[in-house]
Amino acid sequence: MDSKSLYITILFLLSLIQSQAQNGQTLKPLPPSGNSENGISQSESNLTNHEFCGADFTHNLRMKNDVQYKARHLKTNQAQKKMSEQKKALANGVMQIPVVVHIMYRGDAVGTGTNISDADVKRGIRYLNNYWRKVTGTWGAGAGVDMKMEFILAVQDENGNPTNGIDHVFMGGVAAYVSNGVNLYKSGGIKDYDPEGGVNSLKEYSIWDPTKYYNVWLVGEIDNRNCFSGSYTRGYAHSASGHGQPYDGSVVLVCEFLEEASNTLTHEMGHAFNLLHTFHGDNPNTNTCGDDGISDTPKHIRTSSMPGLYFGCNMNRANTCDLSFDEIINPDTGFRRSTGTHKDHIHNYMDYILCASEFTGGQRTVALAALNGPRASFLTSPALTPPVEIGDTFIADHITSLEVTAIGYNTAGGPNVTIPQAVDHGPNTYTVTAIGNGAFKGNGLTSMTIPDGVTSIGGRAFANNRLISVML
Ligand SMILES: [Zn+2]
Repeated sequence: MDSKSLYITILFLLSLIQSQAQNGQTLKPLPPSGNSENGISQSESNLTNHEFCGADFTHNLRMKNDVQYKARHLKTNQAQKKMSEQKKALANGVMQIPVVVHIMYRGDAVGTGTNISDADVKRGIRYLNNYWRKVTGTWGAGAGVDMKMEFILAVQDENGNPTNGIDHVFMGGVAAYVSNGVNLYKSGGIKDYDPEGGVNSLKEYSIWDPTKYYNVWLVGEIDNRNCFSGSYTRGYAHSASGHGQPYDGSVVLVCEFLEEASNTLTHEMGHAFNLLHTFHGDNPNTNTCGDDGISDTPKHIRTSSMPGLYFGCNMNRANTCDLSFDEIINPDTGFRRSTGTHKDHIHNYMDYILCASEFTGGQRTVALAALNGPRASFLTSPALTPPVEIGDTFIADHITSLEVTAIGYNTAGGPNVTIPQAVDHGPNTYTVTAIGNGAFKGNGLTSMTIPDGVTSIGGRAFANNRLISVML
């Protein structure tokens, strides 16, 4: 048994032991601890409580209570269906998604407990990309596709300054968070997001502009549980219909994030880019088959409800939901399994199974459509452009041209500033064409020289200085 199988086994046994203790026999969600919350009924809670993944729960809640989210979601669904049917040619280039990771720590020193080190954050993001990019020699190297999308820690923060995309957020003063973590289903932890006044929910404590950064929050516990609590929720995310909203992003247990064998964040990122569970809409209790609407994944019932299958990454038992399933799942290689058995889905990241190692070509089409559609603002975000420090002026360049905008000043050059006509960075020379909003605000400047190439000066660019000379 390799270490991954061992990890899966341990997790599974823990889940099973917990479920048996609670329910008598098989892997069923634990009963809810309360009646209803935010309009979600008891029966709905029953289906989702302590699910491995809480994405359906948060999605359903929003579909019920947030008219705008619902409208966006329905619109996206239509567009996505069209894209999926058209099977459009995929872009050859790899798309990069800027990410910021918020470590919501409970008071530990950096590198201990929930306050993981920056090196560990980079390691977790590497695991994520191993799965999404199907990197050879890693656990992501299955029979599925390279998604041609990757997640990169931001190098420019919201103010145009350099960053490593890692944000350590001290939560030690928030008692409910310290003792229970995040409250997803009703547990005494802090809320995920609360639009009411004040800062009283996880995402209000720290979020970067969600139109420019994909936010990931690493938490110690969800509903007072973590990887060592038996049945537990590993993470949750919003679909692309939440793009740009103050609640958008993935929340993941830090213990899952650091485990290479875990594909929790990979799975949640799938949701973020509009992938449904491959068993979407199933009901194991009534043997109702589920379907994600993507043609190269079979209809099936979640694997986690079939303990006999859970370990069997090579299982030959017939999948009665879709006996004739025979699709090419990797258009790059022409790979198809042609089995009609549970092998057809037990490798997919969007099933509930930990031996997963693949996305399909159809899933890639949907995910890329979500990126190029509702999440397109990530592609023009300055987050992945390193701020160029020219002399004493921080300058951020645009991604698609050889022009740059002066966006800030660190004052080290003193009160007399001359902005250069052009700046060299990497192999390129950039022309300075604009000065950003508030770029030199409050810097104690007395003189400023602006080059001819500048055709745009943002609002209050030189406010609150002592300027006696401005050269244009
Ligand atoms: Zn999920």
